[in-house]
Amino acid sequence: MKEAGHGGIRASGAKAISVAGGLARDARYSMGLKAKVALWVVIPTFLIMGASGIWGYYKWSGTAYMSKRGQAASLLEPLGVLSAMYMATDDWVSLDNSLAEVAKASDLPILALVPYDTKGIIPTSSSGRGGNGWMGIRIPPQDFVKRALASSEPIWEQVLDSSGNLVLNASMPAVSGLREGTLVAVFDFEPTRALVRKASMELVAIFLALLFSLVGAVYVGMSGTVVRPLEALSRVVERVRGGELKARAPRFSGDEIGKLASAFNEMTTELEAFTAELEQMVTQRTRQLEQSNALLESTNQKLRTANSQLERISRVDQTTGVFNRRYFDELVEFEARRSLRSGGSWCLFMVDIDHFKRFNDTFGHQAGDLVLEETAATLKKSLRSTDILARYGGEEFAVILLDTSLDQARAVGEKLRQKLQARSFSGLDGRDLGGVTISLGLAQFPEDAASSEELIARADQALYAAKDQGRNRLVAWQSIRDQHSDD
Ligand code: GH3
Ligand code: MG
Ligand code: MG
Repeated sequence: MKEAGHGGIRASGAKAISVAGGLARDARYSMGLKAKVALWVVIPTFLIMGASGIWGYYKWSGTAYMSKRGQAASLLEPLGVLSAMYMATDDWVSLDNSLAEVAKASDLPILALVPYDTKGIIPTSSSGRGGNGWMGIRIPPQDFVKRALASSEPIWEQVLDSSGNLVLNASMPAVSGLREGTLVAVFDFEPTRALVRKASMELVAIFLALLFSLVGAVYVGMSGTVVRPLEALSRVVERVRGGELKARAPRFSGDEIGKLASAFNEMTTELEAFTAELEQMVTQRTRQLEQSNALLESTNQKLRTANSQLERISRVDQTTGVFNRRYFDELVEFEARRSLRSGGSWCLFMVDIDHFKRFNDTFGHQAGDLVLEETAATLKKSLRSTDILARYGGEEFAVILLDTSLDQARAVGEKLRQKLQARSFSGLDGRDLGGVTISLGLAQFPEDAASSEELIARADQALYAAKDQGRNRLVAWQSIRDQHSDD
């Protein structure tokens, strides 16, 4: 049964094979579901989180710098007005002291804080009283100072200095009614930058941790709810495809995969039933076929038997059991043609029972039939198996002697005549019927005739001659011919 089941599935043919090919191809070229899921989770998450991280970073770092800049502004703005007042009264000493105090008190490290007059000169230096630490550790860059002097607005410029440190160059016009000069400061932004850098590293770390835990969670979740059930289902599908129709998918849950599994199970149950039905049908059909084959065989056998019987019947005379005239004519025709083609002589007898009418009249038709039958048997017994005996009509027989000379034929004919003459018959009721004699006409082929018809006519003529000469004798056509030619 199982084997037949396999056959059934395999037999559903090219389709099954192409499906198998398709599975194999898929397995070879496509990545696993887990990898796909991971990829589809990782890429969008990475992009979204990355983009928002970068955006957040810039936003936050911008804010960090802005707040520092605000701090710088709130330091410089009041100093602008104060400086202008000291400059207007040429009180450079107080200006120096004020600037020094502010610089010392500032949370923001100040690298330089320098007042310029309207001509761009640093009055404290030129007065020879420089050297206060507040002036800072550097001179502001020349080009920035130039722009600051030319501008009526404050300038804020975040740049890298010559040693690559981040600084904020700032200028504040010193105005008190009139423009008295310009205050230029250089703030050290390197600590701020370090702060931002450290924060961003932390941000990246948090981002990666989030990303990995998200991907991990999705991966584990997908494995448990989708991938593993699908893998189990696909294993069952493989088994069913291999012919194991009893295999069923486990039910996992009520979700789509669970529904798929139960739909598959239903389908397999139907397939199993259908296959069983099919197998039963095949078995039944096979049995029917075997039965009809047997029937056909026996019918054929009967037909063959009937045919051979028919053939025999068509060639054999029913009363005497020897060949009939129809078949005899065919044989004579055949032998004539054969000896014309390949040479060789043969002889033909026409044999007729003498006064048979009288016999019938005396003993009855039935007794006549009996004598006909026994005469045929007597003749047959006296001939070779290669000789051919036929009933030519009524109480007349014909004999073909193949490969026989005229003299040999004469001897055979004489023997036949004597055999008949020697025997007597008795009826069915045991009554003595006496005996019969025969007359024989003999002709030879191809010596006496050019065709089978002519040969028969010659033998007939010889038979008539034998009757004429008193019956119970043998006459050969050649002796009549010789007589005729003598005449
Ligand atoms: P002949 O010596 O000249 O041959 O005389 P005959 O009486 O034999 O010749 P004829 O041809 O006059 O008669 C033949 C008879 O043979 C006629 C018929 O009564 C008989 N006969 C022919 N066929 C059958 C047959 O099948 N059965 C029986 N019982 N008699 C037959
Ligand atoms: Mg006769
Ligand atoms: Mg006759």
